[in-house]
Amino acid sequence: MSSGKDPKLKVEISRIPDEGLVLEREDSPSLYELKEAGLIPSENVRLQGMVQKIREGAYLAARVSTALELECGRCLRPYPFQVQSDLRVFFVPESESSEDHEVELTSEDLDTYFHDGKEIDIMAPVRDQIVMAVPIQPLCSPDCPGLCPVCGKDLRKKQCGCKPEEDIDPRLSVLKNLIKRKE
Ligand SMILES: [Zn+2]
Ligand SMILES: [Zn+2]
Repeated sequence: MSSGKDPKLKVEISRIPDEGLVLEREDSPSLYELKEAGLIPSENVRLQGMVQKIREGAYLAARVSTALELECGRCLRPYPFQVQSDLRVFFVPESESSEDHEVELTSEDLDTYFHDGKEIDIMAPVRDQIVMAVPIQPLCSPDCPGLCPVCGKDLRKKQCGCKPEEDIDPRLSVLKNLIKRKE
């Protein structure tokens, strides 16, 4: 069974069988509002997993895959970034959001989202999972030489010949310039 024909990212809780509902779908990234979250998606979003009924809600465990275009923090070039992330979330009824319930769930390494009593909406948890998969310091490659701190040229493409500063960490060169100014 698959909810892949459902254009919306919702699953009716009453439709989830006891053995769980297999979730296998591929959707346009626009359904997950990734652009609104500040990301540039370059592939469809694929989901592979299962929804299970638990108590008053549901539990979703799925592998989320897609690709984004990120900007390298050193050379500022756009580069492709593959997202492969395991999502595990609980959906609880909004009325059940008493404080001790939240404490109980957040003490685990699992996220909690609310449902309206009828359907769960997988949009927000999947979007959040993709947002969280983005590295804090995106790099096109771990050894990206970045831009020359003197002339600003991309050092991967060409050595610019700015010899004196070449071995200096860009952060240090800022310091050095400050010191120069003081002298
Ligand atoms: Zn780079
Ligand atoms: Zn240079």
